[in-house]
Amino acid sequence: MRPARALIDLAALRHNYRLARERHGGRALAVVKANAYGHGAVQCACALEGEADGFAVAFLEEALTLRAAGIRKPMLLLEGVFEASELADAVREDLWIVIHHEAQLRMLETTTLAAPLHVWLKINTGMNRAGFLPEAASAAWQRLQASGKVADITLMTHFARADEPQVITTSEQITRFDAATAALPGAHSLANSGAILGWPQARRDWARPGILLYGADPLPQEGNGLQPVMTLESAVMAVREIAPGEALGYGGRFVADAPTRVGLVAMGYADGYPRGVPDGTPVSVDGHPSRIIGRVSMDMLTVDLSRLPTATIGSRVELWGREVPVNRVAAAAGTIAYELLCNVKRVRFSYQG
Ligand SMILES: *Cc1c(COP(=O)(O)O)cnc(C)c1O
Repeated sequence: MRPARALIDLAALRHNYRLARERHGGRALAVVKANAYGHGAVQCACALEGEADGFAVAFLEEALTLRAAGIRKPMLLLEGVFEASELADAVREDLWIVIHHEAQLRMLETTTLAAPLHVWLKINTGMNRAGFLPEAASAAWQRLQASGKVADITLMTHFARADEPQVITTSEQITRFDAATAALPGAHSLANSGAILGWPQARRDWARPGILLYGADPLPQEGNGLQPVMTLESAVMAVREIAPGEALGYGGRFVADAPTRVGLVAMGYADGYPRGVPDGTPVSVDGHPSRIIGRVSMDMLTVDLSRLPTATIGSRVELWGREVPVNRVAAAAGTIAYELLCNVKRVRFSYQG
């Protein structure tokens, strides 16, 4: 059997959830959208069902998958609904919905519902992607209230730069949110992972931790005690030596300047490992630091075993996990851990803890 697999540590997931909840105070919706950032939404939600205050997914179909798997806790649709018929599904499945745009508000006003919904009213405080402008928040709130179709209204916003310490824009977003909501009743929710860890002023009634649950610290200084949840690993499947001047792999990008022992690893970009990483990107072989050499192929990649004479066929290779932080690979690939984790596919998933 091909040795490529993603090992998912559910005890680490619970540890990270507790840490988020404790750090933030109040309650926390575990964000399990995008198949729990690539970790397996059903397994992750089941692992958290006992202690999470609730869950957040992007849209209805993601929520239905979790409800069908027996997840009963509160569940928020972060994008809200796309068509009026989904409102009935939300009522039936007891889902909470975000309302972030006039079209969604009108949909709610003009649709007959069997029971009122829990609504999270999203206010655009500066990200300018979704949400009502601060000056429109009160009118939107009044219309929700007047519709008779809402059980309660939570007020929320989302930060554009919470993972950057001390940027003025996050303070400004908090100030705008507070001004827009001062006269409105209802619980508040501001903080994603970056704000939970880095912006104490943003800690309110509900946190919305995503990436931190999976153990990738969004802040540059890290050191928050998160535990990596996914280990992406495989094994050496062949070893060869190349001579100085010989090129390795597609495009001949890596050219040996000394006799080089090359380990061929069963992992490629079709598994979600980023194709764009340069020579020198860290990996771990049998627990020892090594590096990618040569272009990543679809099913395989190559690592430098020159300094690891005992490494051989079958040696374990960690692409990311406890030995190789996913943030380091993301930086090498010019992206963020979110994207790498979401992209993992084709490999076997094993769950423990
Ligand atoms: C995805 C998402 C989150 C989680 O963000 P992280 O940075 O992963 O913690 C929180 N809130 C909203 C509205 C989101 O879309």
